[in-house]
Amino acid sequence: MVDIAPLRHFVTAFTELVGQDRGETELLDAGTRLLRTLVAEDDWLPEPFAAPDETAYRQYLLHCDPLERFSVVSFVWGPGQETPIHNHTVWGLIGLLRGAEFDQHYRAGPDGQLVANGAPIRLEPGDVGAVSPSRGDIHRVRNALPDRVSISIHVYGANIGAVRRAVFDPSGATKRFVSGYSNTILPNLGIGRPR
Ligand code: FE
Repeated sequence: MVDIAPLRHFVTAFTELVGQDRGETELLDAGTRLLRTLVAEDDWLPEPFAAPDETAYRQYLLHCDPLERFSVVSFVWGPGQETPIHNHTVWGLIGLLRGAEFDQHYRAGPDGQLVANGAPIRLEPGDVGAVSPSRGDIHRVRNALPDRVSISIHVYGANIGAVRRAVFDPSGATKRFVSGYSNTILPNLGIGRPR
């Protein structure tokens, strides 16, 4: 059994932080510091929340604030796995725990097509990135390692598994989606398997 004390401390501190009703910039600055501390050591994530799947990346809910002000999710990427291009509609923080990931941001070009917004950012263990509607909300994340599992810890400003948001194809075509979580049952959140 691993000692989950770092996660418990993180959840307690983040609950205090969202209760302070700060603006987004201050919240994300302070939240980044908390998440950086959490992912500085890779010795606390229980194995069931670090398990990859052969067919697609997994997203395991670790904690959802009772008021749904934030949620904490472990994303587990098998070799070569990636997300579609997607948005969030709320702020999000990505802390790299194990392995490495590429985070590619997109923006709408003049003709409505999505174009890469800068070069892909490579996240290494301990690194933290951010998304939000105000600072760039559309991206694609992929495992940077062809032969190993990578894991990142994500924090969002909502119960992200229940948020109505969108995936995009490169032409800019939009499809609504609700991600759910990979946890089998979360009855208190009205969520089962991801759709
Ligand atoms: Fe994302």
